[in-house]
Amino acid sequence: MSLTETDVSDDFRDLAGRVAGSVVTPADPGWDTVRQAWNLAHDQHPDLVVVPAGPDDVAAALDFARETGRTLVPQGTGHLAAPLGDLAGCLLLNTSALRGVEVDADARVVRAGAGAVWGDVTSALAPHSLAALAGSSPDVGISGYLLGGGYSWLAREHGLGCTSVIALDVVTADGVQRHVTAEQEPELFWALRGGGGTTAVVTAITLRVLPLATIYAGMLLFPIERAGEVVRAYERWTRDITEAATTCVRLLRVPPLPDVPEPLRGRAFVGVNGAIDLPEEEAVALLADLRVLGPELDTFAPMPAAALGAINMDPPMPVPAAGDGMIIDDLPEDAIAALLAVAGPEAQTPLLAVDLRNLGGAAGRPAPGGGAVDHLPGRFLVYAVGIVPDPALAPAVAGAVEAVRGALAPWAAERDYANFRETVVPASRLWAPDVLERLRAVKAAYDPQGVIRTAHQLA
Ligand SMILES: Cc1cc2nc3c(=O)[nH]c(=O)nc-3n(C[C@H](O)[C@H](O)[C@H](O)COP(=O)(O)OP(=O)(O)OC[C@H]3O[C@@H](n4cnc5c(N)ncnc54)[C@H](O)[C@@H]3O)c2cc1C
Repeated sequence: MSLTETDVSDDFRDLAGRVAGSVVTPADPGWDTVRQAWNLAHDQHPDLVVVPAGPDDVAAALDFARETGRTLVPQGTGHLAAPLGDLAGCLLLNTSALRGVEVDADARVVRAGAGAVWGDVTSALAPHSLAALAGSSPDVGISGYLLGGGYSWLAREHGLGCTSVIALDVVTADGVQRHVTAEQEPELFWALRGGGGTTAVVTAITLRVLPLATIYAGMLLFPIERAGEVVRAYERWTRDITEAATTCVRLLRVPPLPDVPEPLRGRAFVGVNGAIDLPEEEAVALLADLRVLGPELDTFAPMPAAALGAINMDPPMPVPAAGDGMIIDDLPEDAIAALLAVAGPEAQTPLLAVDLRNLGGAAGRPAPGGGAVDHLPGRFLVYAVGIVPDPALAPAVAGAVEAVRGALAPWAAERDYANFRETVVPASRLWAPDVLERLRAVKAAYDPQGVIRTAHQLA
């Protein structure tokens, strides 16, 4: 259904009268701000945007979408906006106002609104010396991250973020508010932990958190000319490494921006970053095999757990970007050569970063009582990304991202990690056949009309 003057004057006004939050149409001031995704390379043009103040507003928006034949797309930040397209004919539910965080320090539990970002949660936990299985970037939303899996700097020790979810407050497509746990709505509880948000709109998430005040973490940077040597050493280092270490090797081309510190600005590096949850002397001993290579910059040190959000140097604000990922089962010599050919020192590439995050450990084992995704296959989680400063450059950046995926294709795992796939992919790339069948059954039971749409679809 497309936007008409009648919609604006009657239906939308009627909906606006039913919600405590806001209903924003293309005719309203603030339209361009409220429809904007974190990834500025994607221009979203829904029919209207609802910014709910609470679950009742979410229910009203779902009722309106159902009654007017629109799809409703929930979005917290828009980090994963790319596969959604332009949202023509959709109702965009912008959850950014649902941001409250309540910590129960004694129970080691946090409950956060669906629009909260990791920075909100980690800063609320820090005074209690608690930490969550949070993403590398403080402005990634908790919802998309946890609904899709969640790889943190503690993943190899404690598993995927979604395995720490103990309850979700949701509104299903019929407008009914439900508290979802292992006991109440167990199929929905299973589906929402790794199956994405297509089966229900989440309004709040309750998580188990860990006692963790400080952790040994940081990064080592070497000039990119040393990429071959460092990637090979890293591959050897991670072969039998303790689960207490969750780290990444990356090829990084730092843009020449004024707010980037001078030693890094405009230069290219190979780096190793991450966290080692061991007493300092044991972490130092573990890192010695890489430190012996003589990094140009070494920031590894004990740091507050809340500072983990800084070590990947993810952009702290919305950016126009093209990225995509894959999982590889191994990184033999041929794979390293193939990677370096497209992103190493000699490569002419517009990519900002190619990250290979170490999998395995608890992130590679099925979690007891886990959901649709409770572990990931493979040895490294790959993510390649470039900034798209001008839409005309989008094909070149997307081509460079695809070149990385193509180079590593011979070592591709059977499945990918949904949160690192930023293109439209067949559902069979993300979920095993039995998991997909069960997810489809949950979708059919709770959203038979297909009112809710999220980035990765089950079809
Ligand atoms: C800079 C950057 C750093 C990242 N770092 C990490 C990392 O360290 N580890 C990791 O695992 N991933 C990481 N990611 C990937 C990230 O987990 C995904 O992009 C994730 O989907 C973002 O969630 P969001 O809520 O911020 O994004 P959104 O784009 O708002 O949402 C993502 C998806 O979830 C759906 N959704 C959002 N809110 C709801 C809701 N309330 N109910 C139902 N469905 C909902 C959306 O429809 C969409 O399909 C990173 C991505 C970027 C761009």
